[in-house]
Amino acid sequence: MITTILLGLLVPLLAAGPQSDPGPYIRIDRLSPRVALAYWPGIDRRCNLTVIQSQKGLVIIDTEASPRVMAPIKKKIEQTFHRTDWAYVINTHAHDNHCSGNSLFQGAVILGHENLAEDMQWLIRRQTEPDWKRREIDRYSAILRDLRAALPRYAANPAFTKLIQSDLIFYDLFVQDLQQGYEVVKPSLIFFDKYTLDLGDLALELIFFGKGHSNSDILIYVPQERILVTGAIAYQQYRVPEIGEESHLADVHRFLAVLDSLLADQVKIEHVIPGHSVPLTRAVLPPIRDYYQRMLKEVQAARRQGLTLDQTTRLLTLRAKFPAFRDPPPGTYGDGHQERNVRNLWRILAEDQPAPKPEPAKP
Ligand SMILES: [Zn+2]
Repeated sequence: MITTILLGLLVPLLAAGPQSDPGPYIRIDRLSPRVALAYWPGIDRRCNLTVIQSQKGLVIIDTEASPRVMAPIKKKIEQTFHRTDWAYVINTHAHDNHCSGNSLFQGAVILGHENLAEDMQWLIRRQTEPDWKRREIDRYSAILRDLRAALPRYAANPAFTKLIQSDLIFYDLFVQDLQQGYEVVKPSLIFFDKYTLDLGDLALELIFFGKGHSNSDILIYVPQERILVTGAIAYQQYRVPEIGEESHLADVHRFLAVLDSLLADQVKIEHVIPGHSVPLTRAVLPPIRDYYQRMLKEVQAARRQGLTLDQTTRLLTLRAKFPAFRDPPPGTYGDGHQERNVRNLWRILAEDQPAPKPEPAKP
């Protein structure tokens, strides 16, 4: 009984309110004197923002889920680097936590792929279409309720309790932005194939990956730092690469060409920065290249042998054919991606080689 009363008091005290300070939760991990990773830890939503300081100013790659979420991270970065001269914002693609804090970087050039602006349109529609907006607010409000309800259950686990508290502040700010609306700032500088950004003491090489995870995915290579920022291309360790609904054969060939160019001997990579996990190494790249190569070969062979899509899907499981990757837990992001990849590659190959028309009967 006493416990119940205490927990009853405890939950509202620990639950996040607008007064909660996110500062202590946010991490800035230095990779080198010039480069740091900024992220706001939570149970399952880590998103890496890469910060680079250069002669031309500060550069940030990706800007989290909303301005209210981005603001305390930006503040902590500025305190860490003792400067506020933001020169460039680069968005790896248009999903939620990669470009929704752009509006905080007034005066900086927003840089991304040619398809980025169109890809970002959903962030505006989510605010302007009432049903969509309501669904999203309900969804994240439910997450907040679940987190508050979970808090007492983990009282004996301080590390997990801290993650829940961190999530409560994060989602509380995010829901406020969803409710009140925020400015979506699209790129002011775009490129198609490749772009070299000269920052004085170092240069960034921006590379379009092709339509896969989204329509605007880019990678950023920093030769002077031997760093490759991959956005969602290396999403996190063991996560299967993607072939999307919008992917065509040219995109699959582009994935392979881009990965081959990054794996060339003269390209020095020590850190691979994935979108959503701890930093990885160059060793994660060959399995991604090999995945696309083998998928292409296997689906082509299956079609030649006259297998159906269902048979091919059953044949090409991650467990059987691609042990470098693992299926994520059911219901989480990435669940079903392998089946979807096979289906999309099947469609791509069918588009490329339509079934031959039967020959007219000879007299
Ligand atoms: Zn994404």
